Amino acid sequence: TSQPTPLAERSPDDLASFAAEQREAYAALKERGLKLDLTRGKPASEQLDLSNDLLTLPRGFTDASGTDTRNYGGLDGIKELREMFAELLWVEPEQLVAGGNSSLTMMKDTLVDLLLHGGVDSPRPWSQEEKVTFVCPVPGYDRHFTLLESFGIEMVTVPMNDDGPDAEAVAALVATDPSIKGMWIVPTYANPSGSVVTQEVAARLASMETAAPDFKIFWDNAYALHHLTRDEAKSADILSLAAAAGHPHRPIMFASTSKITWAGAGVAFLAASVENVKWYLGHLGKGSIGPDKVNQLRHAQFFGSAQGVRDHMVRHREIIAPKFAEVERVLTERLDGLGIATWTRPTGGYFVSLDVLDGTASRVVQLAKEAGIALTPAGSSFPLGDDPRDRNIRLAPTFPPLGQVTEAMEAVATCVLLAAAEQASG
Ligand code: PLP
Repeated sequence: TSQPTPLAERSPDDLASFAAEQREAYAALKERGLKLDLTRGKPASEQLDLSNDLLTLPRGFTDASGTDTRNYGGLDGIKELREMFAELLWVEPEQLVAGGNSSLTMMKDTLVDLLLHGGVDSPRPWSQEEKVTFVCPVPGYDRHFTLLESFGIEMVTVPMNDDGPDAEAVAALVATDPSIKGMWIVPTYANPSGSVVTQEVAARLASMETAAPDFKIFWDNAYALHHLTRDEAKSADILSLAAAAGHPHRPIMFASTSKITWAGAGVAFLAASVENVKWYLGHLGKGSIGPDKVNQLRHAQFFGSAQGVRDHMVRHREIIAPKFAEVERVLTERLDGLGIATWTRPTGGYFVSLDVLDGTASRVVQLAKEAGIALTPAGSSFPLGDDPRDRNIRLAPTFPPLGQVTEAMEAVATCVLLAAAEQASG
């Protein structure tokens, strides 16, 4: 097939007939009365089924050290699961806490403790500062931003590039502004861009000078093991890099099995310097006598080893990689060469980030909604829901069955084309 002419190079007449075609295609789409949903970065039920053996585990109730997991205690989590995930996350077991079912809750607890008590290297609790600011790479994870917003923490954005956050932009901000106390990073297969932070970018962020003495990197490695290809990205080794640079307490790493076993009944992890771990557990211990160790034990038995986790992730890949391939195929077939959209080709994680013409993302989402296709609200991947260019749309293809991914993406393409035609033809 011949390459299409970019819209920007077409004559007014051509654009008028293009727009007419797109209106017709959209009317036909609406006729179909679809009801599809690409908003949810959730595992499909077929993926959840991979872990159904958890329903009959654990066998027994004592962990490797002989502790009765049914009882109170063991605030840092059971040893065999911490050892397994320490290997997978490239940290030392004594740097790792295994907790409840949600890493987002651990992030919130950490933030609250920093606000109320200050960190191990804070001159005072963050809440006693005149202002607290976080650097937020964009596009990013909406819940990171709404969490900060809920505490009145200000947000400054930097671009998320293919190799991670724009490290020079971050370094320039943090060097002079002592109100900047932290930043978010999803280092591996980022939500939503799929970017992987390189060792070089991580080293720069670990070693940069910061005006705040207690600057924290919230290193949310939610997709550390969630490869979509055989070429498995290794997460940058942030704890070692920071320690080597003389800032051992800067990074706090988070991860979970939410998209490994069950999103609602997995195990979450926090990793940091031994002093940070002690600090975190000290505050945690005021409100907990220990995590759900029975759940931790059944996870340890289910996986058997770190290699067991890696093998399990291959089975996830086999289910979801075809869905991502379908997103790529439809977007390429329908939109390539028109100069109206670019999108990511992630090699892991749960999302595709689609950039449409500036000023048309909200229109695309609205058109899709009216045709029965739910998309994540435009702007979601930006602090305060404000995408200054109104161009970014987050696509989440894992949850719907493959056939619905195809239908939904064909519909998205139709909406992108119509919104572009509307804009181009005035
Ligand atoms: N972090 C990122 C980047 C995510 O995308 C998600 C879920 O979508 C989470 C954290 C939630 O993690 P958890 O289920 O462990 O609370």
